Amino acid sequence: MRQALLGWYDRHRRDLPWRRTRDPYAVWVSEVMLQQTRVDTVVPYFERFMARFPTPRALAEADEDQVLAAWSGLGYYRRARLLHAGVREVVERYGGRVPEDPAARRALPGVGAYTAGAIGSIAFGRPEPIVDGNVARVLARLRGIDTPLGRAVTERRLWQEAGALVEGPRPGELNQALMELGATVCTPAEPTCDRCPVAEHCEALRTGRVSELPVPKARRAPTPVSLAAVVPTVGSAKNGGVRVWLLRGDGTLFGGLWGVPTCAIDGDPSAAPRAALRQAGIAARLSSDPVARLEHVLSHRRLTIHVYRATAARAEATAARKLLRPADLPTVGTSTLTRKILKAAQLAP
Ligand code: SF4
Repeated sequence: MRQALLGWYDRHRRDLPWRRTRDPYAVWVSEVMLQQTRVDTVVPYFERFMARFPTPRALAEADEDQVLAAWSGLGYYRRARLLHAGVREVVERYGGRVPEDPAARRALPGVGAYTAGAIGSIAFGRPEPIVDGNVARVLARLRGIDTPLGRAVTERRLWQEAGALVEGPRPGELNQALMELGATVCTPAEPTCDRCPVAEHCEALRTGRVSELPVPKARRAPTPVSLAAVVPTVGSAKNGGVRVWLLRGDGTLFGGLWGVPTCAIDGDPSAAPRAALRQAGIAARLSSDPVARLEHVLSHRRLTIHVYRATAARAEATAARKLLRPADLPTVGTSTLTRKILKAAQLAP
């Protein structure tokens, strides 16, 4: 099975920028970006990020705003903050060299079993397993694992199976072959078993259960939440251009990123935008009706956002509150949702 996987991978692997290197730092960045994000989306972000922060030291010396600005649009910003913290520790404790020792790698902030295994196998050539969504699907089908994903018993079994497979030559390529097979052949809805290099070993295919495996984990429906978001501006096109107040921290949707004031709508809908401005410490003239309504789905919440404009906004600039021209937005970390809100208020391209 190992030989079949490796032979297939050699012939069919996609040429991706992080596959042209065995630099552990580059492998680390790519694996963090690839969590919950599609390969096509990650490629340009990875290339820009590595051009901007080519070494652990360059990333460690950057401030959080610069890192989040380079991550803007990729989502799941906690990943970026943890990567930054992990790399800073590598610079402080290991002189900028990612440790080869698995226990030292696992102890770094944000480095779980998956990321540690990816760095260990791909960059250091060590027989360390990895299990991500693609690998879990392939192994569940290959081995006929029919307990639900996410359960401890299933996870244990998947890591055992992955661990047994990776004990052999070329562990980094073997892991990548499993991931690649899951991404391109053993896909969730329509796996192409007639093109699969390990079809003769596949328990799900043998027993006619390909469409039943893996058994998904029970999901909770996202909770609906209504929010008011206020875009507080000052100035006009005639009078030196419009500028917008942005906040960071409490009262925004994503703590570490810059965003507009928001407040949950609970009861009287017109009270929420006033409360959002009050909590933000901004005095302004508020539009009486929303200028737009947006829907946005996060992992556990389905947001309905009523966007208000507020003009003649006054506040004091602080470390967590600043006035920006719309053209300067790319220089600070903002979420996709904040950019959607600003666009709805006609303040972003
Ligand atoms: Fe997946 Fe089909 Fe290959 Fe089994 S035979 S591993 S179900 S692609």
